[in-house]
Amino acid sequence: MAAGGEMAAKIIDGKAIARDIRAELKAEVEALKAKGVIPGLAVILVGDDPASQTYVRNKEKACKEIGLYSEVHRLPASTSQAELLSLVEELNAKDDIHGILVQLPLPDHIDGDAVLNAIKPEKDVDGFHPVNMGKLAVGERGFVPCTPNGIIELLDRSGVEIKGKHAVVVGRSNIVGKPVSLLLLARHATVTICHSRTPDLGYHTRQADILVVAVGRPEMVTGDMVKEGAVVIDVGVNRVGKKLVGDVEFSSAAERASMITPVPGGVGPMTITMLLKNTVEAVR
Ligand code: NDP
Repeated sequence: MAAGGEMAAKIIDGKAIARDIRAELKAEVEALKAKGVIPGLAVILVGDDPASQTYVRNKEKACKEIGLYSEVHRLPASTSQAELLSLVEELNAKDDIHGILVQLPLPDHIDGDAVLNAIKPEKDVDGFHPVNMGKLAVGERGFVPCTPNGIIELLDRSGVEIKGKHAVVVGRSNIVGKPVSLLLLARHATVTICHSRTPDLGYHTRQADILVVAVGRPEMVTGDMVKEGAVVIDVGVNRVGKKLVGDVEFSSAAERASMITPVPGGVGPMTITMLLKNTVEAVR
């Protein structure tokens, strides 16, 4: 118990939760292998963006750790859209590939939506295909985008009740804000979605029992914008000098929140873990 202005919030340890889930997945993969199936993930990386290269390497490593088959197709930045589409078609047809992921961003001369839409929805482990987004919106089972799925897992595994709570989501991107809002709604939260045209953001965030921030602006949500006892999920990853900081000012928010995710070590480790989970589920 903290007293006198010290940090009161419990820290949600995304690394530890991700480790638990990966151990469960490893057991599932072993069971599948015993039946003669090895879940396979194909990753396509176009160009040589250093951040994307790191993400892809981390994905490869994570697959290996739990025994998934993975292959990475590294293509030059000059790859044409037609070449990329034909690779996607080839992978769509392969029986030993259960999941296909195209690392974003793609070079400017390629129409990213056209490429994502070419992935078979049954192999779309990133959950970005409009068919999977549509299923999420109408409440059918499909692939759910990894970061939003990871956020729900963090809440569940931290014992946070979602039903009946007021969840406020800051950010409405297709990758995070929008899908996490739909997931919270499906779990019977009352959901408010804020974005760059929301006047008086603090008015809304101060109502949140569960506050999810996915904006991409270092420490924009400060402690005075957090309701006493709220659960705060900070999705932001911002490089400030040599440090990584979230979209939430951790020290002041932790004084008011009951639980909070750190950056790094909160939402981040969950994203790849949910990709592994979707790939294992793709076998079914
Ligand atoms: P986008 O840039 O796609 O979306 C940002 C959202 O924030 C937009 O909806 C935008 O509103 C809103 N916004 C911008 N400024 C404000 C403001 N002043 N007040 C309120 N809302 C605002 O970002 P992403 O959703 O892709 O990512 C968000 C953050 O999460 C980034 O830091 C990213 O690095 C991180 N991230 C982390 C992941 C992880 O695994 N940990 C995975 C994915 C992302 P509008 O729509 O009106 O423009």
